[in-house]
Amino acid sequence: MAQHLTVLEPGSTRAAPTRQRSRGGQISRGVAKGRRTQQTRAVEADARAIWSHALTEALECPIAIDFGRSRSAPIQARHERIDGRDGLRVRMHGAVFATAPDEVRDAVAKWLRSGRRARRAGKVLDTWIAERMADLPAARAKSSTLRPTGQCHDLAPMAVKLIAIEFAGDFDGDRRAPGITWGTRRRSRSRHSLRLGSYDVETNVVRLHPVLDQPAVPAWFVRFVLMHEILHAAMPPQADANGRWVHHSPEFRARERCFPDYARVHEWEKKNLGRLIASARRGTAMRTKPSPIERWVQGELYF
Ligand SMILES: [Zn+2]
Repeated sequence: MAQHLTVLEPGSTRAAPTRQRSRGGQISRGVAKGRRTQQTRAVEADARAIWSHALTEALECPIAIDFGRSRSAPIQARHERIDGRDGLRVRMHGAVFATAPDEVRDAVAKWLRSGRRARRAGKVLDTWIAERMADLPAARAKSSTLRPTGQCHDLAPMAVKLIAIEFAGDFDGDRRAPGITWGTRRRSRSRHSLRLGSYDVETNVVRLHPVLDQPAVPAWFVRFVLMHEILHAAMPPQADANGRWVHHSPEFRARERCFPDYARVHEWEKKNLGRLIASARRGTAMRTKPSPIERWVQGELYF
């Protein structure tokens, strides 16, 4: 019997190519294409079990999950006989979906069940894919290098010291120390939040937001953000009993609390986060003096 093959592909569930290229160019690729790290493989093995369990329950048919690297079709599915029953083989982009939250898993289940009619689910997927794709390294930048040396802070010597002292023993075995780079300077749009650093399991690269690369940001603050992200490389996300990804486990937080400067880093962040966000939005240096309104408020307070 001929297998009925359907490639379900949400029409709009793709990142716009231009945006993807221009935004994706920021990350240097620390790992040659196709060479996946041990931690990626371990994370994906857990993820495959979580996904197939969740989708099998939701759709009441056997589901096989493959993680691929297709950017043009980040998620697709086809009917297949699995264990002698009619089921679905779902192929999804590993870096986009492996550690996706419950909301995204639910959306995939609805979308597989109803296709384009699942409007809300399609929207959730669109947004998720666009965001994750924008964070992926540029597809063609195979030999691009990491850029750890900023205009103000050099991350390379910082990382070498940290890995020797704070992470002694973490990267001795199969686990490789992550690549370190500054992100590309571009305006941030958010008024309320700012991601100061990120760790990409897929490429094993730690990236710091370039807003931190300015004289008003103390080196010890930059170093702490770097430590936090390197800790993610040392302690990759783990699935809990409910299949939720835990990025900041109690063990993670406990280790983080032992890092030098913990207290003053949080104090500095509380006091300066607003200025950092404004600096990232405007693309200008961070203000170090209080604004007229802050001066006025202070004047009122201390009058
Ligand atoms: Zn974190």
